[in-house]
Amino acid sequence: MSQFLPEAIQLYIPSTIQLIYLVATGFFIVGIKRLGSPATARSGNQLASFGMFMGVVVTLFDQEIISFEFIIAGVILGALIGAIAAKKVQMTAMPEMVAVFNGFGGGASALVAWGEFTRLDPTLFETQALVTTGLSILIGSITFTGSFIAFGKLKGFISGGRIALPGQNYINLVLTFVAFGLVGWFTVDPEYQLVFWGLFGLALLIGVLTVLPIGGADMPVVISLLNSYSGIAASMAGFVLGNNLLIISGALVGAAGLILTNIMCQAMNRTLLNVLFASFGGGDDAAAGALADGDKSIQETYADDVAIQCSYAKKVIIVPGYGLAVAQAQHTLKEVANLLEEKGVEVKYGIHPVAGRMPGHMNVLLAEADVPYDQLLDMDQINPEFKSTDVVLIIGANDVVNPAAKTTPSSPIYGMPILDVDEAKRSIVFKRSMNPGYAGIENDLFYSDKNQMFFGDAKKSLQALSIAIKDLD
Ligand code: NDP
Repeated sequence: MSQFLPEAIQLYIPSTIQLIYLVATGFFIVGIKRLGSPATARSGNQLASFGMFMGVVVTLFDQEIISFEFIIAGVILGALIGAIAAKKVQMTAMPEMVAVFNGFGGGASALVAWGEFTRLDPTLFETQALVTTGLSILIGSITFTGSFIAFGKLKGFISGGRIALPGQNYINLVLTFVAFGLVGWFTVDPEYQLVFWGLFGLALLIGVLTVLPIGGADMPVVISLLNSYSGIAASMAGFVLGNNLLIISGALVGAAGLILTNIMCQAMNRTLLNVLFASFGGGDDAAAGALADGDKSIQETYADDVAIQCSYAKKVIIVPGYGLAVAQAQHTLKEVANLLEEKGVEVKYGIHPVAGRMPGHMNVLLAEADVPYDQLLDMDQINPEFKSTDVVLIIGANDVVNPAAKTTPSSPIYGMPILDVDEAKRSIVFKRSMNPGYAGIENDLFYSDKNQMFFGDAKKSLQALSIAIKDLD
């Protein structure tokens, strides 16, 4: 595009491009910072998108661009697919969509490296360009196939269970060492094409073999990790192309993905190694809780009774979980909260960091129903409030309120921070059955004297509750 400009201006183009890249980086950093709170997340997203738009437009002035036709066709096609996906994909299917995006991101980085390798003479590459070409192929290809296996597991196309050969973890470890060895070989002997293609093929295989053994319910953590990989691969591709914006934005994605992976693991009280190498939860049989069978009796309740308890309460805390997302009951929940507030009841929401099946799942779900952000309180903020709460409504949440995390050292979730709903005067659990949650363990909260069970699909139960509250007037 720059060739259409006067020669005097063309001289300044390279430095102007770098300057605009710097401004775009600023937009990315501020954008990511603003994603930290639901109140500023939308504007954060817009700022980062604007930064990316600036980056894309200014890159079109790069003097090395040979053909615009493919770029424009790619922009139109990509924007179209992105817009349709953003409109159509259900909130519960968001992890699948992110998996696909990561896969394409990793694949694109590998293709960039491949393109440069075939377009130019690799023997003229500097060592740094050779190393980053190799790493871009390696990490990008692992991200590509790994992400699509994760997508298949979440969609149910591939079994969510552990699919592995005996000693699979060791096989993967050896293959990874071999792959890094091939990166080294490629660096010293880039002319030997077989090494390049061997590395490409092996990396694609490693992506498949490392994600296949991981349980379907752990996929959100894996996807967050693959997100980080896709950023690192993009950063490597940035080195290959000598593009500073790609280097920085890739590094930002890589770091953000790693931080998120770490937060998710900490919130589940598991190490990343445990997620990657041990299957966990999702089984059909519930592991027993600490209570003996004789002590297990539950109190069942119904809409009319819940309506009375909530309407005469001073403070009600709502604890949402995965079941709320499955039932798509967020709007009905908001309606119930509105009715209670009209009666002068103080309503707040307690959000556990891993409630649901992806980070921020509950925040996004409740924002969709226009729940005010200042009512959404993090675990640390809400926990001291349970003692002074009359009624806690637990909607489709299970593991994140399981007292075994505090009381039962043998429990797989022991040590996981939970919402202290057992400290409230009354808790009421909305779910369809006594089935366990993701961790596959029984929940002794259900048998507590202070707890009641309201069985049924969360949306139907909340609709009945809404009618019952109105009937009280
Ligand atoms: P859980 O998976 O523990 O429990 C969800 C409950 O919802 C189930 O017990 C189920 O019971 C109920 N449910 C399902 N469908 C409905 C429905 N239509 N109506 C009413 N209830 C329903 O969810 P939590 O949110 O409490 O905990 C999340 C779990 O997921 C944690 O163990 C966490 O570690 C894990 N996890 C979270 C990730 C994240 O990023 N957020 C990532 C990976 C894992 P029933 O079938 O009886 O209705």
